[in-house]
Amino acid sequence: MGPPSSSGFYVSRTVAVLLAGLAAALLLALAVLAALYGQCARDPSSEMQHRGGPGAAPVQPRKQKEQPPTPKPGPARKPAVAATPSDWRPPGPWDQLRLPPWLVPLHYELELWPRLQPDQLSAPALRFTGRVNITVRCIVSTARLLLHSLLLDCDSAEVRGPLSPVTGDATIGRVPVNDVWFALDMEYMVLELGEALQPGSRYKLQLSFSGPVYQDTWEGLFLNLYTDQGERRALLASHMEPTFARYVFPCFDEPALKATFSITIIHHSSYVALSNMPRLGQSEKEDVNGSKWTVTTFYTTPLMPTYLVAFAICDCDHVNRTERGQEISIWARKDAIANGYADFALNITGPIFSFLEDLFNISYPLPKTDIIALPTFDKRAMENWGLLMFDESLLLLQPEDQLTEKKTVISSIVSHEIGHQACGSSFSSHLQKWFGNMVTMAWWNDLWLNEGFASYFEFEIINHFNPKFPRNEVFFTNILYGVLKEDHALVFRAVSMKAENFTETGEINEIFDLFTYNKGASMARMLSSFLSESLFISALKSYLKIFSFSNAEQDDLWRHFQMAIDDQGKILLPATVKSIMDSWTHQSGFPVITLNVSTGVMKQEPFYLGKVKNQTLLTHNDTWIVPILWIKNGTTQSLVWLDNSSKVFPEMQVSDSEHDWVILNLNMTGYYRVNYDKLGWKKLNQQLEKDPKAIPVIHRLQLIDDAFSLSKNNYIEIETALDLTKYLAEEDEIIVWHAVLLNLVTRDLISNVNNYDIYPLLKKYLLKRLMSIWNTYSTIIRENVATLQDDYLALMSLEELFRTACWLGLEDCLQLSRELFRNWVTHPENEIPYPIRNVILCYGIALGNEKEWDFLLSIYNNKTKEEERMQLAYAMGCSKDPWILNRYMEYAIATSPFTFNETNIIQVVAESEVGRYIAKDFLVNNWQAVSERYGAQSLVTLIDIIGRTISTDSQIMEMQQFCSNVLEEHQRLSIHAKLQTIKQENLEKKKRNARITAWLRENT
Ligand SMILES: [Zn+2]
Repeated sequence: MGPPSSSGFYVSRTVAVLLAGLAAALLLALAVLAALYGQCARDPSSEMQHRGGPGAAPVQPRKQKEQPPTPKPGPARKPAVAATPSDWRPPGPWDQLRLPPWLVPLHYELELWPRLQPDQLSAPALRFTGRVNITVRCIVSTARLLLHSLLLDCDSAEVRGPLSPVTGDATIGRVPVNDVWFALDMEYMVLELGEALQPGSRYKLQLSFSGPVYQDTWEGLFLNLYTDQGERRALLASHMEPTFARYVFPCFDEPALKATFSITIIHHSSYVALSNMPRLGQSEKEDVNGSKWTVTTFYTTPLMPTYLVAFAICDCDHVNRTERGQEISIWARKDAIANGYADFALNITGPIFSFLEDLFNISYPLPKTDIIALPTFDKRAMENWGLLMFDESLLLLQPEDQLTEKKTVISSIVSHEIGHQACGSSFSSHLQKWFGNMVTMAWWNDLWLNEGFASYFEFEIINHFNPKFPRNEVFFTNILYGVLKEDHALVFRAVSMKAENFTETGEINEIFDLFTYNKGASMARMLSSFLSESLFISALKSYLKIFSFSNAEQDDLWRHFQMAIDDQGKILLPATVKSIMDSWTHQSGFPVITLNVSTGVMKQEPFYLGKVKNQTLLTHNDTWIVPILWIKNGTTQSLVWLDNSSKVFPEMQVSDSEHDWVILNLNMTGYYRVNYDKLGWKKLNQQLEKDPKAIPVIHRLQLIDDAFSLSKNNYIEIETALDLTKYLAEEDEIIVWHAVLLNLVTRDLISNVNNYDIYPLLKKYLLKRLMSIWNTYSTIIRENVATLQDDYLALMSLEELFRTACWLGLEDCLQLSRELFRNWVTHPENEIPYPIRNVILCYGIALGNEKEWDFLLSIYNNKTKEEERMQLAYAMGCSKDPWILNRYMEYAIATSPFTFNETNIIQVVAESEVGRYIAKDFLVNNWQAVSERYGAQSLVTLIDIIGRTISTDSQIMEMQQFCSNVLEEHQRLSIHAKLQTIKQENLEKKKRNARITAWLRENT
């Protein structure tokens, strides 16, 4: 699946939304998951004992919503199984998150019939019916069957068998089903049988069921309503990862329980049905009302897990091409296909497949790949085998996207998902070949191997197709920056999780996070850096070949890297690959590496947020085994290892009299921060002032980001970080400026109106240095903005540069804003360049008056895309006129034209300096209307924004007084605690700002 949305380096919301989708691709990742198949047969529980029983007639199972009846008494009916899901039941396997290992599924025949008709789109509560025959092999004798199922009604349930070993004939026997009930907590359907199934025998579970089609969530089977060719349309699609297959059909919904699937979809004849495999045939069927439906059947899939099962029913068009005999089709709205929006994705998809096939020497076994662009899909993208699904914003390239990072985003995410394809497929075929049907456990706790490696390889793929792609800088910006900010010693999240720590299904969904994707990718990158890229790839390649001969578990990956290491003599490690990697993946946080350049002593300590002197290690008795790639005077040195808490490296010594400098963590491939002693920082500072270009861009970025982060958390003085900015007049790399501005001109600083002292000093200090980079980019914007098209780093950084320049009152920036805004107002075809659109709209409004504001409102009313409306809503909040802001909020609570509740306009207004006070008054006077419009809960967020500048108790009292009238008791308490925290933080910030001010005074 695509990575979760995360706040990265970007400030632009749009950019953030797009780029959060950036993760990457990879074969081996899924390979790793699949490798875990050989893992851990669990101890049979007491529930597994043979429980024969009297033959009872099959029963019609009840609907899940209804209450199951009380159990029938009888000798075989073990403990009083309570009647309702909510009632007390004796502890049993239904209390466990994991399925008992009694049965393994071999094959599913699945038929689904959603009643979607193109002329009844407004019909409420669409449902589907379905039937599934699951062939299972019994491993442990049991008279009680557990399958996953959630919110499905079971209409009938039968168990046939044992099947003839030769013919597989299901008609010969029948095992009575006494009862069917649902254990809602762990999402099971439980079948109570009249007799036990026999180990080694195969059976067929025949279930018919029905369930809801979802409209507002993208889980299970869901509906998308959209407009195409001027008409209202609908499509149905599925999303099963990680645990939503059970929303669509009763199944054994764990990733290791792979089976083959023969899928049949019944649909309206005007729609096309797609699934993992190519279409096998079509026929017609009449329903009870005499309406005709089309029955589409698909070829049987290879072995695959339930979470990769997919289908779509839609009225889309497609474009296609053939790559090495495989047909690749991209499906989208007819308008989009006609306009060629899918062409970019189509053109890159084939070559990416081929690249991965060649890299890992694995050919893709499926005859086709369909990729469908869904009008709305909050999962961003999903790698369903043979039928990939994307949110259309991450797949389709429109002409107006030329000046966005869209191309890179689409390339990345397509790479990522295709990587999963190839990977998944290679596994299935290996498993089929070597393991047969005997499959043991693999589970979601290993997700990071899958998604982390995928995210890492995304960069490799893009780099392969575009060798000029600044992959180190982009990796830092998109992956490292965000996760280093969130990760620390006390965070309760190591990248590698223990399966037994999961107790609820919801926890599985939670691990699709920054740690799985970003930290996981960083782990893979670090591994590749110390093994060398070629050894890394060749180890993976042979791992893919060899693993299928063995029973594999997570550590096998490490062991396999170890084999690659042992087979050569060039690269020596201080410990096994497993010990090295375990030190990183089994504990949270990362180390701060401090080098004393006078003595050559290097030490490590865990990184804490807001380090306190002599902080003791609460959770971290361990150190990390740290690979140190480093440079001296611009020359790369040999790899060394810090495998203790400290160690001496005489070769890293530098004396004050020499012009030497040392930087640790080459290309930032290590997952840690680097600190130096005073002399070390001084030497780097001198080098920056003398000849900054001698230090590579990635390291100028690193120095800024490490120094500011370390100073913010009390590892070094703020002055040390500030010293590093003195050279900036010579800095012509916009990405380095981006890092400086994010760290120095923080949102706190901008929104804190009390920073009267710091502002004029900062203005003078920064403007003096900023002019050169400003002139470069403002000229491009004025003269030839199209040249930015493939400058990924500029596209990403421009907004921050322009926002800061205008905030600092740079006349040319304000002038340019006026020009571009006016130009657009008078000739709307003169679009404002996308990368700086937010800033220009904001300053167009801030520098304008009622006329400009009303113009924006009229545009707002004509926009339908939420993203564009949000951009305009925020820009309208930039007005400096109190009465305009007040009127804005009045419009908002009167609802029209602000009909969508997602953007709380009061919050938008409160974000700005002027707006904060007006919003506060407005709230006091209009609380009733505001709470009706945005909900009482919105006050908590509002107080948070309005209270951002609080630094005294009397300010807190004032805020509380207002709150006390409108909030419940528990809310008042939480607000009070929150305000106290804000006050405390602000006092800290004040101290820090005072020191920045003093430093600026001295250096301006
Ligand atoms: Zn993924």
